[in-house]
Amino acid sequence: MTRPRQSGTHAVLPALPDNLWRQRLRRRLLRWFDRHARELPWRPSPGLYATWVSEIMLQQTQVATVIPYYGRFLARFPDVRVLAAADEQEVLRHWEGLGYYRRARHLHAAARQVVTQHQGCLPTSFEQWRALPGIGRYTAGAILSIALDQRHPILEANTVRLLSRLVALTADPGTGSSQEFLWRFAAALLPWRRCGDFNQALMELGGTLCTPRAPGCSRCPLANMCPAYARGLQDQIPRPKRRAASVTVHEAAVIVQCADGRVLLRRCQAGERWEGLWDFPRVELSAAADRVTAAELCGKVAALTGIAIDAPRPLATFRHGVTHHRITLTCYQAAGQDCGTRRGAVRWVALDDLAAYPLPVTGRRISRLLQEERA
Ligand code: SF4
Repeated sequence: MTRPRQSGTHAVLPALPDNLWRQRLRRRLLRWFDRHARELPWRPSPGLYATWVSEIMLQQTQVATVIPYYGRFLARFPDVRVLAAADEQEVLRHWEGLGYYRRARHLHAAARQVVTQHQGCLPTSFEQWRALPGIGRYTAGAILSIALDQRHPILEANTVRLLSRLVALTADPGTGSSQEFLWRFAAALLPWRRCGDFNQALMELGGTLCTPRAPGCSRCPLANMCPAYARGLQDQIPRPKRRAASVTVHEAAVIVQCADGRVLLRRCQAGERWEGLWDFPRVELSAAADRVTAAELCGKVAALTGIAIDAPRPLATFRHGVTHHRITLTCYQAAGQDCGTRRGAVRWVALDDLAAYPLPVTGRRISRLLQEERA
């Protein structure tokens, strides 16, 4: 055993478990995985490209949510060349509803980089993967270990929790010293063969049994090796994060319409919440909708789009959350005063063409409202 070390926050880091313990863990975990691994469309590994797509989609997203998106995405973009040749808007349309759209933009940009810099051949080295947009240490290690059985450790939310409990790490796992310790632990655990299966087994156990609340310790293959379980510390490890206080936000989305029925869409710009997606003109309000004047709303829409509108009429209200923001979105309808041709980031779009545009979830709901109204 190595000596316990002080972390940067003065909490004591545990010792790395010895070789015998690690061997036992590998055997048990792989045996458990062979019996209990869920059947998923990306198992066994469908190769580098599809493993890459699945790993990007699975970031911060539940398996059940990803499954239908994964199938549709691969049907339309079956390899890296097809993905690179596609328009970003179409890629985002296939991602619509999955959230964290930066992932899709990076995936697309990385596909283009693979085509221009690697002649369309996906890299097989860790460093080359890290040089692609959207590929961090975890993702590069996961892709190469799962698709090619290369020996790279992984660390993500499920494994942070599992590994922290397996050594009773009471320090905050988010600090630099805890992260460095957990990466060393993950590397020390890796077997010499079946690294991809082993990494997936860690994530599978973390995601299905060693869950944040009420972990299934009585069914866990590692229960009698787990100090957190032995000491009844499962609920305290990892140390709960302090949640950001929720913020109430009032927004308005305005369906600006021409006499011929076309509606105004605006492409969200860099730094905006839905960068790259299109949306009905959406503005933040100074107060709840019933306390906002028509002049404020018209002025904000004109500043955002360059289009003057008539007094808007409220149509519907949606409540939704984005990170810690609790958003009340009031949807209005208004006639546009200038329906001339527009190009670039602001466009008049026929209702039948809305389906081709990637929209935020609430934008798609508004689009459906319009279709229902017309029917
Ligand atoms: S015994 Fe419980 S806390 Fe320990 S690894 Fe298994 S599920 Fe997690």
